[in-house]
Amino acid sequence: MSLEEESMASPTTSSCGTCKCSANYDKKKKKKDKKCELITYEELPDWLKDNEFIHGYYRCEWPMKETILSIFSIHNETLNVWSHLIGFLLFLCLTIFTAMVIPSDGRSNFARSNTTMRDYYWGDLMVMANMTGVLRHEALAACLLLNPADLSEHEQISTSCPTNTSSFSSSFSIYHHNHHQQQQHAVQDAATTVVTEPITRWPMYAYLCGAMVCLLASTACHLLLCHSPRVASLTLRLDYAGIASLIVTSFLPLVHYTFLYHPRLRLAYTVSIVTSGIVAVSVSLVPAFQAPRLRHVRAAVFSGVAVSGVIPVVHKLVIYGNVVREAVTSTRCEAAMGVFYGIGVVVYTARVPERWFPGKFDLVGHSHQLFHLLVVAGAYAHYLGALEYLKWRDTIKC
Ligand SMILES: [Zn+2]
Repeated sequence: MSLEEESMASPTTSSCGTCKCSANYDKKKKKKDKKCELITYEELPDWLKDNEFIHGYYRCEWPMKETILSIFSIHNETLNVWSHLIGFLLFLCLTIFTAMVIPSDGRSNFARSNTTMRDYYWGDLMVMANMTGVLRHEALAACLLLNPADLSEHEQISTSCPTNTSSFSSSFSIYHHNHHQQQQHAVQDAATTVVTEPITRWPMYAYLCGAMVCLLASTACHLLLCHSPRVASLTLRLDYAGIASLIVTSFLPLVHYTFLYHPRLRLAYTVSIVTSGIVAVSVSLVPAFQAPRLRHVRAAVFSGVAVSGVIPVVHKLVIYGNVVREAVTSTRCEAAMGVFYGIGVVVYTARVPERWFPGKFDLVGHSHQLFHLLVVAGAYAHYLGALEYLKWRDTIKC
């Protein structure tokens, strides 16, 4: 509001005109202005004190409406809010992409396609899903125009997977070719067999939902936490429950698709991870768990549950590491996820770089923002790994 508008709106010049009315207005306005100004760490009440290396730009006990609208203003939580809100939108797009592009079973979406299209479908899809490989995708898209006879080379790689359906071939091919007319480089690996029975998609969607819940809960927490101690307590619990949901649902594609034909192992792993998740959520609901000084304990609890994922991954490699290519490629994605999350936890607990330069990273670049970006990167790497599982189970049945 401009000075001119302010003076027009002020009751001191209004028809009311009484001193009492004016005093009340000034008092209310002062209170509101005071509520909606950014303050320093020293001015914060104890319940809002979390990171002494961030010196300024704090909101404190703003009214709910102003707190929500502060998503569009600059303060030390702005990038924390937006980093996970954009992450949420990314996963919403990935969910839509998964639902619309990836076939719900091994046949239906190929009905109108020829064999070559089908053979290349999964390989091309993986490139589409990998947004970092856009250029490569363009090259591969051109390859789809090729006649199979134009493919100059192809080689067979055998696999020791047992044949258990008539439509399943015990080998899958890697087409490796150079396109001499339109592209200089176009390399495509593609599975040549498609199983006829649908492979369930629910573990994939459960993971996508878990990721979206985590990112949205985190967004709400960072936006609303400053409103009051009650809201802070509620949103922090929501945030921790969201983290647990991301971790637990991350296991589902791994466990379900890896042990698709080992029901007892699948059940044992699923029960143990869900139990661990329930324990983690229960612990995180204890009010004392939210204390800033317990940052290391929180990191240890969630990291402990996440690190237990190493066991089924190693188990997967022992069973399938030498015979199924996707068992290895999905593990690479899981390793990338582990690296992102691992660095994120270290940054979160160490509170760097603001520890080294207190007050210099209040708005941009502090540890929690870096942690958020690493979480989104890790979750995305895991999504690519989950696609590998779908590719595996849509093309090979063993
Ligand atoms: Zn956060």
